[in-house]
Amino acid sequence: MSVLDKFSDPKLCRSLLDRIHAELDGELRFMEVCGTHTVSIFRSGLHSLLPDRVIHLSGPGCPVCVTHESEVAMYLDLASRDDVIVATFGDLMRVPGPGGRNLKAAQADGARVAVVYSPFDAVKLAQANPDAKVVFLGIGFETTAPTVAATIQMAAKAGLDNFHVVSFHKLVPPALRALMADPELRVDALIMPGHVTSIIGPRAYDFLAEEFHLPSVVTGFDPLDILQSLLELVRQKNAGRAEVVNMYTRAVPEEGNPKAMSIMNEIFVPADALWRGIGMIPGSGLEIAPAYERFDAKKVLGLELVDVPPIKGCRCGDVLRGKLTPNKCPLFGKACTPAKPVGPCMVSTEGSCAAYFKYNTEL
Ligand code: SF4
Repeated sequence: MSVLDKFSDPKLCRSLLDRIHAELDGELRFMEVCGTHTVSIFRSGLHSLLPDRVIHLSGPGCPVCVTHESEVAMYLDLASRDDVIVATFGDLMRVPGPGGRNLKAAQADGARVAVVYSPFDAVKLAQANPDAKVVFLGIGFETTAPTVAATIQMAAKAGLDNFHVVSFHKLVPPALRALMADPELRVDALIMPGHVTSIIGPRAYDFLAEEFHLPSVVTGFDPLDILQSLLELVRQKNAGRAEVVNMYTRAVPEEGNPKAMSIMNEIFVPADALWRGIGMIPGSGLEIAPAYERFDAKKVLGLELVDVPPIKGCRCGDVLRGKLTPNKCPLFGKACTPAKPVGPCMVSTEGSCAAYFKYNTEL
């Protein structure tokens, strides 16, 4: 058995599950803040193995899901322009905007939309199409933003004047602070995103313990990682402690990734950002810094956010705020399925609604 295989070893998992069952005092309502954790918890079967008193809530950790309707409207405006090629990750293609319209429909109607696997591919696209403006759709959290920042640096070095980025990157800590301040939210503890924390470092969450007295654990994505974290959260809750514990030390250094942070902080500046179903959260987004504004599609192409009403009947906002489990949405599995998604939480493979549907959870 390799070292990595041990992170899903059934015997070790069983012994941790037994400890959670034995030690849990009362109930533990925990929120995970990463789409990959959402899927791991379902795919590994942990969701159904945990005691009923361990209540799993998904938070706003799926980048596609939190992309706001007004942001999608801006993408669609871009796609409608004859002189623009929109370059995007594939998972944005089916995210619904105004009237349920998405980039896939725009592409079918003739818009120039190219799916890329990396923002660097968008730079190559700009080099190959000097007569067009290539706009990369920048979404994602602190994990993605440094790569997009490096891409802008690369375009600057290459002297490209037809490569632009529309930045709707979002920051996890300000969003969590806003969510945790909601008096209606009932959360006892959090599992923090491993990938994001590998960039920003675990100390970025100290406010959870200091301001909200909430235990939290930074963890990996294998079953053993998640169970160890839950046991730690159970122990902190039982003892009335609130600490940020890094249990993913094999990937997350205490200081995060200073190089990635430095690139990100050179190219981007914090800005207010819209989150789907949540609204505007101060300082929770990233805009392109003035020194690089020639790459900023919003400025160069004069893009404005327009008001777009939420999708009728979709409860993604409540799902992303941990207030509703997906199967309690009246449209779940009926009008809304992965084949015919109504909202982004069913579109994205990292969305909670898609995970609930795929793994047929009855909870
Ligand atoms: Fe939205 Fe569909 Fe999820 Fe309901 S099931 S919240 S309609 S994505």
